Amino acid sequence: MNILVTGGAGFIGSYLTESLIREGNSVTVIDDLSTGKHDNLSALNNNKNFRFFEGSILDYKLMLKLVTECDVIYHLAAAVGVKFIVENPLQSLITNVRGTEIVLELAHIFKKKVFIASSSEVYGKNGKDPFKETDDRILGSAMIPRWGYAFSKGFDEFLAIGYYRSTSLPVVIGRLFNICGPRQSSSYGMVIPRFIQQALNNEPMTVYGDGTQVRSFTFIGDTIEAIKALMNNPKAEGGIFNIGSTESVRIIDLAVKIKELSASTSEIVFIPYIQAYGKNSEDMFYRIPDISKINELLGFTPQIKLEEMLKIIINECRSR
Ligand code: UDP
Repeated sequence: MNILVTGGAGFIGSYLTESLIREGNSVTVIDDLSTGKHDNLSALNNNKNFRFFEGSILDYKLMLKLVTECDVIYHLAAAVGVKFIVENPLQSLITNVRGTEIVLELAHIFKKKVFIASSSEVYGKNGKDPFKETDDRILGSAMIPRWGYAFSKGFDEFLAIGYYRSTSLPVVIGRLFNICGPRQSSSYGMVIPRFIQQALNNEPMTVYGDGTQVRSFTFIGDTIEAIKALMNNPKAEGGIFNIGSTESVRIIDLAVKIKELSASTSEIVFIPYIQAYGKNSEDMFYRIPDISKINELLGFTPQIKLEEMLKIIINECRSR
């Protein structure tokens, strides 16, 4: 099959691309390298089933060519990371809204099945434990850039479902919950790569707020299997699925665990949110998925537990 992966040079996109190629597909990646990196795809240099286009999903002419040439689309190109979004609010919104509009419009015209990568951000500050796909989404003020990102991802979901309902375009939406693994950059604010880098350098580990906020982290390998299985199952079409782990951890406990696993002498320091993200910021205090929907359809449960994934990432960072 000929597959188009938008954002394929990013952390998740590059693993997806490698996996699709291993299965015998030909993959074309489009990435503007705003947060993705060539290096992420270095294993595919000279692979005859791989093509790379450095460009934007906002480039309609290029996207028209790439969509006509493919059989299915995995749309992962988006602004990523709270830090990046807070620092680049306009670019993030345009990429997420206009970019997805272009992908869906062309997919509709040329009748190509699409996976839309959404985010657990869309639940906002609902605070419910755990989040089901049908739960209300509670988002904050337009003055807080983070909620713009959550709105834009929510808009992408509405648009995809709109195409599905009105035109029968086969779409599948995955809400990703804090995916992590080797190769994830620490530059865009994600907590695990940041803590690991800080711990390995014996630098202060920066816990934002009081560290009692709770997350669950999902290993990249489990995530890729879930995304592909959803796209390969016709019953997933027109559906929204949480993709995540139900193993919860407080951020302070995560810092302590990473410090211990990396035998670090780092001090754990508490940074007020205002200092971390500026004055217009808010965090979610609880974010754990209910994964019964994807489990019932695919039998999906993440295989890699938090401690194991931390060890894998620490080892990879050490060897780098
Ligand atoms: N966080 C932290 N220190 C850091 C980076 C992040 O304490 O250096 C916190 C952040 O405030 C959030 C959690 O870790 O509560 C997860 O942050 P991340 O940006 O990885 O993902 P989010 O779940 O916020 O999208």
